[in-house]
Amino acid sequence: MSYLTAENISKTYGTSTALSPLNLSLEKGELVTLLGPSGCGKTTLLRIVAGFAVPTTGRVLLGGNDLTPLPAARRQMGMVFQAYSLFPNMTAQDNVKFGLKVRGVSAAETEKRLKTLFELIGLSDMRQRFPNQLSGGQQQRVALARALAIEPQVLLLDEPLSALDAQVRLNLRDEIRRVQRETGTTTLFVTHDQEEALAISDRVVVMEKGKIAQLGTPEDIYRRPASPFVAEFVGTANRLDAAVLDQERGLIEVAGWMGAPIAVDAARAFRKGQRLRLYLRPEELQLSASSGSGDLTARVSDKRFLGSITRLSLMVGTNTVVADLQGNEASAFPVGAPVNVTLSPLAAHVLSAE
Ligand code: ATP
Repeated sequence: MSYLTAENISKTYGTSTALSPLNLSLEKGELVTLLGPSGCGKTTLLRIVAGFAVPTTGRVLLGGNDLTPLPAARRQMGMVFQAYSLFPNMTAQDNVKFGLKVRGVSAAETEKRLKTLFELIGLSDMRQRFPNQLSGGQQQRVALARALAIEPQVLLLDEPLSALDAQVRLNLRDEIRRVQRETGTTTLFVTHDQEEALAISDRVVVMEKGKIAQLGTPEDIYRRPASPFVAEFVGTANRLDAAVLDQERGLIEVAGWMGAPIAVDAARAFRKGQRLRLYLRPEELQLSASSGSGDLTARVSDKRFLGSITRLSLMVGTNTVVADLQGNEASAFPVGAPVNVTLSPLAAHVLSAE
């Protein structure tokens, strides 16, 4: 049985709908991310689970118990917000202690938890610092420790990394995941950053205009997006218009391609003439300099070194297609050079354009 359930939850403000009735269940110990663009209802759903907002319809269940009538303070949930949520006039340690004091936890037990938590977040030597003596990343670590101190049944994280610099964000992301796994805390995480969602989650809920557009593992969402919205939101950079030529063989013709039709397995699900969107994954395109091989012929129109990858822009007929190459692979393809592109089964995905 699932541990945390949002059952038939909806929320309207006057005549505007923030959430249409939706269902979501988390298993115990799972980290599930709500991912979607600004205004899609992520925070509203999180606030309803936390007890800060009252749903228009539906119930929130934890371990089979209906929490809906309970105020936030009685829900045994820990929360971390975007930033600046520590009490500025209290040391890191007092911030973490706060919830324990309120709950009447003994001094010995409090000290034990403080020691464990500060070790867990790697800040044992900064317990006496005030928030303004800590970096943004350190403050968020303390906020995480404060949320975990009450040994919550559920941890709710609302864009906890969005105010931090890129490198700090990556480190803290991994750290949140490690701490979440070590403590086995069931977690709901809100973000609008697709890479963050894919990297941190057991499962991802992609939201669109108050509805669940897709729910699946990060791999499902990335490899098998259920709709053009999901495909485009999770960042499949190359999108081309196409149509089915031969259903049985999965052959499609791509607009402006000026090459032979290509075979894509998923196209077999559509009838001849059906208009499709073809998505090509930049990191799965295989390039070669030898002429005549591969599925399509292209020309390198631009090349950008991005550190761990080099991103090539390729002209394929009248389309531009982006390909990401690792390490030194790109040196074989100077700007202006012809290239042949091979589409592996993972490289291409099609969805109905209608
Ligand atoms: P963001 O990433 O920008 O925080 P979000 O996906 O978290 O966006 P929500 O904050 O849940 O989105 O908002 C969903 C919708 O509900 C938005 O259209 C928003 O304008 C509306 N909304 C949220 N709170 C209220 C409110 N108190 N009164 C009226 N409308 C609201």
